[in-house]
Amino acid sequence: MNIVLLGPPGSGKGTQAKMIAEKFNVKHISTGDILREHVRNGTELGKEAKKYMDAGQLVPDSILIGIIRDRLSKPDVAGGYMLDGYPRTIPQAEALDKILPELKQKIDVVLNIDVPDEELVRRLSGRRMCKCGRSYHILFNPPKVPGKCDVCGGELYQRDDDKEEAILNRLKVYKQQTQPLIDYYTKAGLIANINGAGEINQIFDEISKVLSKFK
Ligand SMILES: [Zn+2]
Repeated sequence: MNIVLLGPPGSGKGTQAKMIAEKFNVKHISTGDILREHVRNGTELGKEAKKYMDAGQLVPDSILIGIIRDRLSKPDVAGGYMLDGYPRTIPQAEALDKILPELKQKIDVVLNIDVPDEELVRRLSGRRMCKCGRSYHILFNPPKVPGKCDVCGGELYQRDDDKEEAILNRLKVYKQQTQPLIDYYTKAGLIANINGAGEINQIFDEISKVLSKFK
């Protein structure tokens, strides 16, 4: 079973990815991780990618698909895999559709973890920092005294990146980029929408129900 995993920042995608990989025995392929690995190992693709990264530019699709192709050619993906972080755009999805037949593979399902914006903002705007370097989350990891650091007693503050306006902006960019991709995979009959608003285990149950059809 081969899966593409989509979900906005704050959707709990990383946690679900781990649980899916474990239960369904699929290789979790995070594009960010394999890209960094290529750069670290100084492969030809890695060297090419590094030029762009050092210049603060996006790594071009031609390099990314090379890295994906290389990864999907490894024998350890024979039992199935889950792509995380690729594709992000239509051209990337088209490039993937081109190489998969060559590898005698196909995508079985595209999981789209859907969470309302208000909930994402609630989750993503809760981070609080202290000058001493500790960080907290008002919902998931609150300090003992509200607004005060447990370690040094310092006044906690919210980074500009974590403020509602910045988060809504990030979500808007994500949606603009991802909606065409969702439409693309909907047309291909591959989309499975998952309600990501609930508890971790509840979301995983919904995902498991979908995936068990493909086993
Ligand atoms: Zn502190």
